[in-house]
Amino acid sequence: MASPTRETPNTGRAARPKQRRGEGQWALGYREPLNPNERSKKDNHPLNVRARIENIYARAGFDAIDPGDLRGRFRWYGLYTQRKPGIDGGRTATLEPEELDDSYFMLRVRLDGGALTTEQLALLGEISQTYARDTADITDRQNIQYHWIRIEDVPTIWQKLEAAGMTTMEACGDSPRVILGSPVAGIAADEIIDGTPAIEEIRRRYVGDPAFANLPRKFKTAISGLPDVAHEIHDVAFVGVEHPEHGPGFDVWVGGGLSTNPMLGQRLGAWVPLAEVPDVWAGVVGVFRDYGYRRLRHRARIKFLVKDWGAARFREVLETEYLKRPLLDGPAPEVPAVPIDHVGVHRQHDGRYYVGAAPVAGRVSGSSLLAVAKAAERAGSARVRLTPQQKLVVLDVPESEVSGLRAELAELGLRADPSPWRRGVMACTGIEFCKLAIVETKARAQRLVADLERRLADIQSDIDTPVSVHLNGCPNSCARIQTADIGLKGQIVTDDDGTQVEGFQVHLGGGLGLDAGFGRKLRGHKVTAAELTGYVERVVRRFVAQREQGERFAQ
Ligand code: SF4
Repeated sequence: MASPTRETPNTGRAARPKQRRGEGQWALGYREPLNPNERSKKDNHPLNVRARIENIYARAGFDAIDPGDLRGRFRWYGLYTQRKPGIDGGRTATLEPEELDDSYFMLRVRLDGGALTTEQLALLGEISQTYARDTADITDRQNIQYHWIRIEDVPTIWQKLEAAGMTTMEACGDSPRVILGSPVAGIAADEIIDGTPAIEEIRRRYVGDPAFANLPRKFKTAISGLPDVAHEIHDVAFVGVEHPEHGPGFDVWVGGGLSTNPMLGQRLGAWVPLAEVPDVWAGVVGVFRDYGYRRLRHRARIKFLVKDWGAARFREVLETEYLKRPLLDGPAPEVPAVPIDHVGVHRQHDGRYYVGAAPVAGRVSGSSLLAVAKAAERAGSARVRLTPQQKLVVLDVPESEVSGLRAELAELGLRADPSPWRRGVMACTGIEFCKLAIVETKARAQRLVADLERRLADIQSDIDTPVSVHLNGCPNSCARIQTADIGLKGQIVTDDDGTQVEGFQVHLGGGLGLDAGFGRKLRGHKVTAAELTGYVERVVRRFVAQREQGERFAQ
């Protein structure tokens, strides 16, 4: 792994004199930091913060931490301060960010492709029990997220993780974050190609390389031989496709992203063989690093560059300036009629089975992860994967062990035959721990699932198409609300008595795949938290009563 000392990469281009304000693109000569985040990254490369955590902060304690490290560079190692308990969302707007800081941290472990051995899963559980008050959430980016981490324990946690081949490096920050991959890569009967070697090679070559760790903003990647990783909403995605002459490879998408300006990615129309994915990935990241907009944080994602340039110009710059060769043209991937979440029992191409099980909104615990690892091993498996839908999948289960494993998982609250609500509900971290949150999400998702299972039991058998309900705690879109059938964006709303209470702006009819598009935000379509269950119940009953044969929610 490269040493994190170089400040900024040399792009090899002569800096042109600055003639107008521009967008802060390095490739056009705008090297002067234009906002505090760019200044912080230039003054001291974020990857250097690891040494200070190990040598200073973990010994001297929370109060010794430099604020620039605490609220900036720590993210490059997966660390955010968590929200002080008891501070509700309604007050947040009047508080300075430091007033929301607790002295405990959220720590995100990046698990590229969501891939884990059962030994690694057990270790994640043990770390949670020892250092994180038994907390663990499966995120919709296939990470494990801990809470209640003390700075004093971070070096020891890193040692344990790294000894087992795991890391928190670049789990957050303006860097290439965890790479999404198919949870069933290498085993799915209908997979076009296994993207795992490309994921591993990118991680080996580029994660921790300072030349790729000061990007304009975060950078999200998905690589999968199946359309099961929400590829349309990634900064870059490689999706399995069969080329008529060259065989299996990947179709390249760039410029997708959600948050407050959601955009679907665009196809470059290029086909890339497996061995070339890391080079093309590095080229795309290079374009973003050098041409990305650094002046304004809210325009710094690659999607704004792709929107302004268009896919054709992006491909031309990628080919001529970065790859120094043209890419082959290729076909588009097939899109699934319904989202693929790998829940349930499925036969692998080798005759064994994988078992996908659903916690509610990704909430598990260290103890349950440890128990899953043991149950999987008893069933003859040594591998588990986390999914982009906050679920987990046990791989390589012999047929004779499937029913026993299912029963053990169900006892842990992880059902392989979940209700549509347990299966379709996702939630971000929310006000329990997130400093940006306006409303509570995880516990609300738990209650919502339980309520819907009870109140909609009479029509559950009529729901043969998934209905996704995603809850966000603020306008950011960590739970992908714009792509849900029912997307719920947390905000303070006014109830019938004129009181300001927690609630949600509703987005209806979003989806990916065949129905890719963002949900409609109907003006004034807001619901208080207290009315939430009743609202979802009404929408679902109306959908079931009025839909045509085979109609999906997003249609
Ligand atoms: Fe926090 Fe908002 Fe993201 Fe939820 S959507 S985790 S509240 S930043």
